[in-house]
Amino acid sequence: MFTRSRQNLAGWFTLSMGSILIAFAGVRYYLTAIERLQNVDHLLYKKAQFVAATVMYDEQSQLDLSNVPYLGDLSIPLSSEVVYARWYSPDGRLKQFYGTATIQSLKDVHEFETLTIEAGILQTQPVLVRQVTLPVQYGKRMVGYLQIAVPLIEVEQELQHNLLLTLICVLVALIVIAVAGWALGGLAMRPIQEAYDHLERFTADASHELRTPLAAILSNAQVGMLAPQSASDRKHQRLEKIAETSKFMTVLINNLLFLARRSGRLSSDTLQSIDLVIELQKLIGRSSIQSAARPIQLNLDLPKHEVFVNADLELLQQAITNLILNACKYTPTGGSVTVRLLTHFRQAIVQVEDTGIGISESDLPHIFERFYRVNQSRSKDTGGSGLGLAITQQIIVAHGGTLTVKSQVGQGSMFQITLPR
Ligand code: ADP
Repeated sequence: MFTRSRQNLAGWFTLSMGSILIAFAGVRYYLTAIERLQNVDHLLYKKAQFVAATVMYDEQSQLDLSNVPYLGDLSIPLSSEVVYARWYSPDGRLKQFYGTATIQSLKDVHEFETLTIEAGILQTQPVLVRQVTLPVQYGKRMVGYLQIAVPLIEVEQELQHNLLLTLICVLVALIVIAVAGWALGGLAMRPIQEAYDHLERFTADASHELRTPLAAILSNAQVGMLAPQSASDRKHQRLEKIAETSKFMTVLINNLLFLARRSGRLSSDTLQSIDLVIELQKLIGRSSIQSAARPIQLNLDLPKHEVFVNADLELLQQAITNLILNACKYTPTGGSVTVRLLTHFRQAIVQVEDTGIGISESDLPHIFERFYRVNQSRSKDTGGSGLGLAITQQIIVAHGGTLTVKSQVGQGSMFQITLPR
């Protein structure tokens, strides 16, 4: 129970801190990418301005502003990393270009764009480029559009490298957070565990101390009842009541002692290999079960083969007996109770199914809680203290198994024990 709570605490701590860390790393990566792109845009813009200035100069020398000169004349050096440069007329027709990618007419004028261009002569594979389109004016007259693109390979590589580094850092930080969460969870759970242990010890000690005086009360009442008295004698009736209450309290105290002393998994040396087929046959034959099942029909449905599990025989018998006695207790005369044994992969399944009163949906999640009884006034008639299912569940969990229930009011219930084979 404490390990699970500690795991939950560590899990939630890791999840919350991890989410903040991942969000922070994501924003940082995004801002870095934007900053790098802005740097590229700045350089690209300068480069475009420089080329545009050359165009203007050449054109000026020709004195015909509509007749744009060769871009070749602009002598764009290959070392300038320009993937392509294009000169469009004011009406958007391509006049000249440098590089491989050619688009005959200019459709939209975006100042900056990121594009992927297909493989060509200068590049063997698709390249991610950043492109700028500048409207160029001479004086007040529009003379055309200059379009220039530079590759983003360097930025791409740098960002990939950055991303990898960020991922590694986040992963390492997550591991550190998880370890810290586990340690903090342990620290947080310690006082609770100590208080719980203290309470368990107190319950065990108190139950133990109460047993002796209760035994004395019971034996005194029983001795008193031995004296010859008429059945109508009020003294005799009172002694009977005392004996009955002492027996009930003895069972209650034994149950409390059981719950307080046996928590956690059973150690393997207390377990023995038992054949459930044989043990269920023996269990059903017990007089306590036979007399409880007298007004109803009790069925046993067993497989033909042996089903071995490692179990503490006495405890497992107690758990299954609890379920069968409950089924008999909450099934009206004429109904039936079926005890079934099944196997599923490496699991042994014991089902106790009845056609009794059933349990409402709102009560189902609580019936394994200590002292929980459905409908207190109705349960009063059936005896019991609401500890039976808590004990049964504790026994099954101690064996590494699970106890589940399905039920419908008025139709019946089915309790299922699943144990590892
Ligand atoms: P109790 O001693 O009251 O039987 P349990 O822990 O064994 O305590 O059961 C808790 C409650 O679950 C009971 O009060 C009863 O209302 C309900 N319950 C248990 N088994 C059955 C069953 N087979 N059919 C209907 N109700 C059941």
